[in-house]
Amino acid sequence: MNRKIILSIFTTICIIGLAACTTAAPAIKTTSVSSNANSTSTLVCSAGSTSASLTPELTEGPYFTANSPERASLLEDGMKGTKLVITGYVYTTDCKPVVNALLDFWQADANGVYDNSGYTLRGHQYTDANGHYQLTTVVPGIYTGRTEHIHVKAQAPNGKIITSQLFFPGVVQNDSDGIYNASLLLTTQPSNDGMQAQFNFVVPAP
Ligand code: FE
Repeated sequence: MNRKIILSIFTTICIIGLAACTTAAPAIKTTSVSSNANSTSTLVCSAGSTSASLTPELTEGPYFTANSPERASLLEDGMKGTKLVITGYVYTTDCKPVVNALLDFWQADANGVYDNSGYTLRGHQYTDANGHYQLTTVVPGIYTGRTEHIHVKAQAPNGKIITSQLFFPGVVQNDSDGIYNASLLLTTQPSNDGMQAQFNFVVPAP
């Protein structure tokens, strides 16, 4: 093969490659905007509503560790990532707040890595007298096959445990994650030192 033929084969491959990229790009963009642009979503049991569906259950996954420490903040000195504060309430399906509901959170760090030997980024807490909770943590990183998510178990006192996951709006990987569920999207806003978010849980009454 002389140089001219090799050059023309190379040029053809480049043109085909370019054409594939330019036709594929707009489709990807449209998908991520349509299914993830959810900043205006309303929280369940807000605005005077008196009934709601249970928080959808999702797989626990392989990285749950029992007996996490009781703490509302999972932040530790030197922890990398964007600070995230999630607030909300735990309700029953008739939108009555649940006092003393258990919330057990676990997640990957900003690099998408779980602490499977200790309790970094793992902790449980209980809702207050108004059914309110606040979690301080960092935005989790992605890992192979998964979009950004925070695992959680929610339970009214003596009630059935709901195991689920929370997701972040506007993350491109949401569309390629088979576990992702749009009804488990946090409502998020930027804050002074990171991100704030809201999510209301609905759990079975005991
Ligand atoms: Fe996970």
